[in-house]
Amino acid sequence: MNRLLALSLVVLSACGTKQVAPTCSPDTCMGCCDSSGACQPGDLLAGCGLGGLACTTCDATQTCTSGACLAGTGGRGGDAGTDAGAGGGGGSTVYPGPHPAYPQLILLDGGHVLAHPHFIPISFADDDAGTVALFDDFVSKVGTSTYWTAITAEYGVGPGVSESPVHLAENAPAMIDDHQIQTWLVDKIDGGLGDGVVDPIFAMIYPPTTALTYEGETACTRVLAWHGRVNLSGAEYSYAVMPHCPPANGQSDTQLLTRGASHEFAEASTDPHFPRAFGAVDYPHGAWQILLGTENGDLCAQNHDAFYTPPDVGYLVQRTWSNAAAAAGHDPCVPAPAGEVYFAAVPVMPDIVDYTFAGDAGTMPGVHIPLGTSKTLEVQLFSDAPTTPFQVSAQAVTGSMRFSWDRTLGNNGDVFHLTVTPTTFDAASGGAFFIVFAAHSQNEYHWVPAFVH
Ligand SMILES: [Zn+2]
Repeated sequence: MNRLLALSLVVLSACGTKQVAPTCSPDTCMGCCDSSGACQPGDLLAGCGLGGLACTTCDATQTCTSGACLAGTGGRGGDAGTDAGAGGGGGSTVYPGPHPAYPQLILLDGGHVLAHPHFIPISFADDDAGTVALFDDFVSKVGTSTYWTAITAEYGVGPGVSESPVHLAENAPAMIDDHQIQTWLVDKIDGGLGDGVVDPIFAMIYPPTTALTYEGETACTRVLAWHGRVNLSGAEYSYAVMPHCPPANGQSDTQLLTRGASHEFAEASTDPHFPRAFGAVDYPHGAWQILLGTENGDLCAQNHDAFYTPPDVGYLVQRTWSNAAAAAGHDPCVPAPAGEVYFAAVPVMPDIVDYTFAGDAGTMPGVHIPLGTSKTLEVQLFSDAPTTPFQVSAQAVTGSMRFSWDRTLGNNGDVFHLTVTPTTFDAASGGAFFIVFAAHSQNEYHWVPAFVH
């Protein structure tokens, strides 16, 4: 799903995916699960991990910090909660410097991606001809672009092919909900729509005169576009819905249309069916998943530089999450802007904490701080190449809390200390989310979510 929000309006995502719980699991183990299924503390080079994930073996050049094998100079014990007093670590010439691992999208059990997605653009008779032509042209170009390869190849998705556009003879409904769209689409597929097309993605655009809703949300207010799955006679089909929204956030109606479609095409290809494919974030990064969502488009949609116009597409598209770039310490949202030096400040989460989401209870790495009391966290600064010093700050996203830093201007390799004092928790999660920002200026910033309970 594709939200239309600015960062300051981040809300709890409605698309959380519960993760599987075998014997040694996130529900039963705070360290890591070894190959025999036993729970280990998770703080050894030979058995590193956190939150009930499989233990990994770090190599001799690494440290096991907060359950992650970190490259580089190491030597930083997980002493979050104490304040060294000496300020930062003085920087590092190893790029990227040590930092807690970024999220990885995980392939859920039994899920498959679309190896050869075939987009079927579908429009209604009463839609504006110019918009329909523009959308058809966008679809004809996006799947064979270098942009598409950059965002999907690592997940096993090949070039996308545009099928002949379907211009329906019927008018669009005045009002329709996602469940009704599913019923309508199943009926169309049953009647021959997409017959013979392998790995189809049915891509419907609706005219501005249609009032659309998705899971109770009115399209174009908080939801820009979405994708889903339908089943007919045991076969799974992927679809995407693009409402025609009025201009917003400095983007035109057609820019919103194509940026929404690029997000949904990426997700409908990497997480097309039941069972879900790349539809969850790894356990240590529950805060990212709950704040942002569970798929490659969601994890990047809030960024200030999320959208751009690739020359070989010619329309506005969205950057999406790359596991490979995230693991390498580069900008996880690809393709990275030309010439960008990526930098961020990442808090080290010392605890496993409880939270609730959509009525379900769970645990995730976070920081345990009773209301009205304080704890001091380590925050590791890194960049993927030399850059000018950057400013760090923190901001509550839900609930409220006070922050105090020992230093706020630093560089790759520095370790700062952030004292957090929560004053209210939000009712939905039982705790409170905050974001750590790293910024050169208002035009260049990156941020990392975290959770307090
Ligand atoms: Zn999405």
